[in-house]
Parts: sequence; structure tokens; C-alpha cells
Amino acid sequence: QVQNIQREVETLQVKASTDALTGLANRGHFTEFFDEQFQRAHALLRPLAILFLDLDHFKKVNDTYGHDAGDAVLRRVGKVLRSSVRSIDLAARYGGEEFAVILTETDAAAAAARAETIRRAIAAQHIEVDNKVIEVTASIGVAGTDRSRIFAQSAQLIGAADRAVYAAKAAGRNCVRVFRPRADVRTTKPSSVPV
Ligand code: GH3
Ligand code: MG
Ligand code: MG
Repeated sequence: QVQNIQREVETLQVKASTDALTGLANRGHFTEFFDEQFQRAHALLRPLAILFLDLDHFKKVNDTYGHDAGDAVLRRVGKVLRSSVRSIDLAARYGGEEFAVILTETDAAAAAARAETIRRAIAAQHIEVDNKVIEVTASIGVAGTDRSRIFAQSAQLIGAADRAVYAAKAAGRNCVRVFRPRADVRTTKPSSVPV
């Protein structure tokens, strides 16, 4: 009986940390894992990177093909992300049509390369719904820590990735942008700051 209860608790724990639509980690699980990993990376001076993905013109997908088709697209993106991460990483649905990937032991440059691979994989999907083929793209923002400890708190790293997503949107969508922490200091022309 104790074993049954333990199994049930485990099932409930998985359910509570999973996004029902995509099967990815949900926002709560993401935050918990990210905070843990940030503390670890900060204390041990290890690299840690985060990708933020926002699907492009997703409202139009819903408007054109319907909400169920939109859900099918979200499920497919979930599948792509699941197959793109290592066992030590975490792919999550951050909310709505926004996703996040935590890349442990990965610096910003390596994370940018991974983001580009993911961007291409998403853009290459042909999602068939009711005999129609839907294609979707994502704008991806990348931020990573390095040994400089420029990010003192996990929220700052998230904020940096968020800014990078906005830069990717502004650059025309379906692209990757990397937050560069020292760009603000180095340049005298704010317009030339990449993010
Ligand atoms: P942008 O390229 O600027 O990101 O444009 P967008 O249309 O993707 O952005 P916007 O934030 O205007 O729209 C997001 C849309 O995502 C609106 C909302 O209805 C849709 N959405 C959010 N969650 C879900 C969901 O669970 N299922 C479906 N089908 N749609 C969702
Ligand atoms: Mg959005
Ligand atoms: Mg969007």
C-alpha cells in the first residue's frame, strides 16, 4: 500500500510540473530548475545559458487555421524542443506561445549555435492539420553567464534573454539574437547596440 501511494505521489509530481498541451516542463518547474542551476553556476563559476523562444505571428495561425490547429503547432514545437535538448538541459513552455530552454554547462556562444539549430528545425516543420500544411517560425533570444558574474540574480539572466527576443522580433523575426552584456559600456552609439 505504501508503494502504491509512493507511485501515486510520483505520478502527481510529474503531472504538476508538466505542461499538459506540449508535455514540456511547465513554468513552475522551469523557474525551480533555473533558480537551482543559476545558484550552482554562480557559486562554481560555471557557464549557464538560456534561450527564450516566441513563435512569430502566432495569432495569425489561430486566426487563419483555428485554435485547434494552433494547439497542434504548439505540440509540434514542443516535440522539436524535446528532441533538441540533452538530459542535463530543460525545455519548458513558458506560457502561451513562448518557450524557454535552459542549457547547463553552456556559454553564450555555444548557446547561440544551439539556438540557430533549433530555429532551423522549427522553420523546417510542415505541420499537417485537416489536409492543410502549416509552417511556423520562432524568434529566439539568447543570454549566457560567463566568469565575470555580470548577472547577480537569475531574474537578470531571464531579463537579458527577454531583451534578446525583442531584438530578434525587431530584426524581422525568424532569427536568433544574443544579449551582449558589455555592449552598452563599449559603444558610444546606442543605435549600434545589438540588443
Ligand atoms: P509576434 O510575432 O509579435 O510574437 O506575434 P504573435 O501573433 O505571435 O504575438 P501575440 O502575442 O499577439 O499573439 C500570441 C497568440 O498566441 C495569441 C494567443 O491567442 C495565442 N496563444 C497563446 N496560447 C495559446 C494556446 O495555448 N493555444 C493556441 N492555439 N493559441 C495560443
Ligand atoms: Mg508572445
Ligand atoms: Mg509570438
